[in-house]
Amino acid sequence: MNFELTPQQQAVQEKVRTFAQEEVAPIARETDESGKFPMHLVKRLGDLGFLAATISADYGGSDMDYPSFTLISEELGRADSSVRGFLAVHASLVSLCINDWGTEAQKQKYLPQLASGDKIGCYCLTEPNAGSDVASMESTATDDGDSYLINGTKHWITNGGIADIALVFASVDRSKRHGGICCFIVETAWDGFNPVPMGGQELGHRSSDHAFITFDNLRVPKENMLGDVGEGFKVGMSALDHGRLGVAAGAVGIAQACLDACLDFVRTREQFGKRIGDFQMIQANIADMSCDIEAARLLVYKAADMKQKGIPTTRATSTAKLFATEMACKAAADAVLIHGGRGYSSEYPVERLYRDIKGLQIYEGSSHVQRIVIARDLIGKR
Ligand SMILES: Cc1cc2nc3c(=O)[nH]c(=O)nc-3n(C[C@H](O)[C@H](O)[C@H](O)COP(=O)(O)OP(=O)(O)OC[C@H]3O[C@@H](n4cnc5c(N)ncnc54)[C@H](O)[C@@H]3O)c2cc1C
Repeated sequence: MNFELTPQQQAVQEKVRTFAQEEVAPIARETDESGKFPMHLVKRLGDLGFLAATISADYGGSDMDYPSFTLISEELGRADSSVRGFLAVHASLVSLCINDWGTEAQKQKYLPQLASGDKIGCYCLTEPNAGSDVASMESTATDDGDSYLINGTKHWITNGGIADIALVFASVDRSKRHGGICCFIVETAWDGFNPVPMGGQELGHRSSDHAFITFDNLRVPKENMLGDVGEGFKVGMSALDHGRLGVAAGAVGIAQACLDACLDFVRTREQFGKRIGDFQMIQANIADMSCDIEAARLLVYKAADMKQKGIPTTRATSTAKLFATEMACKAAADAVLIHGGRGYSSEYPVERLYRDIKGLQIYEGSSHVQRIVIARDLIGKR
């Protein structure tokens, strides 16, 4: 057992921390308020090697290990969850999925473009009537000679309006539930891929692009199926196994940003003739926040280390995501309280952190779903 980051991991941490604090954090409030994703950061993320961290250099990746990938997610999450969310979808859900399941031709064609940031990826799983219950998916894929015709709708698709490449899940036989689902690599310029922005205003991740997408006789060549017929559910869940690790790390980043902000604040804000950091109740809040962050970070590192060693990580990543997102929800709520009325205003960063963390508790499987995954693994299937 070794709790030290390797010199290579420390170098990644320093590089991403500098980038996140100098180029991402300073514009986070502005992009949150404008609702516009900072597109110029996509190429920067590519140039820094963060868009395909764990992918082989043969496909344009950086050949990093999974602990390094979690350090990238944590530091970006500490700066701006919209940017970290972009990366989670583009890198974990799309690139890693093509890397794990793609044919050589698919990998050669799509991975380098995604690694450089020349093309953007999105992951189209959730539907208006099929959220946690993925197997009840209504989108269909109909065999039509050398291609499939896809019809249906997806919603809440991160990067959906800015993506060039989409992983689209649809069923060839809805009566088979999980067994009918297939995954397709779709180029969004193809006729029949129709994204529009989600209605309403999001609670958090306000600069992320979230789309409602309609597939209208979207024709996809058979060679663009990812995995075999009926393997789409497995493909999708394996992507979430990578994605949940990044979300857990991002939650640690949010909680760390809450702690950073609180430490600054409690050292300077005075009431009753004292720094508020001298009051024991505030100290207890700060100490609890720090303990929770440390515990969550260790769960994230443990899951990353297991993934790196090729050990199955479904329970470990669900455990890390559940614990990290729940603890970060509490950290953000406490951080707003510690800031008093100031915490309720966008003048202070904790207001955005408090809004952003709720998304992490919901997407890539809500906290309820993570508990189901963990309990099923412990109890065993019947
Ligand atoms: C910011 C954001 C970004 C997103 N990005 C993407 C994306 O890029 N691609 C994509 O495909 N999707 C995306 N999603 C969708 C997200 O994955 C779903 O919202 C999520 O899986 C929950 O599905 P749902 O909203 O349909 O809720 P539902 O499944 O309807 O759940 C409603 C409530 O019921 C609970 N529940 C459901 N089933 C059970 C059960 N068996 N036991 C106990 N409780 C249960 C849930 O936990 C939740 O509390 C995104 C969502 C958000 C908010």
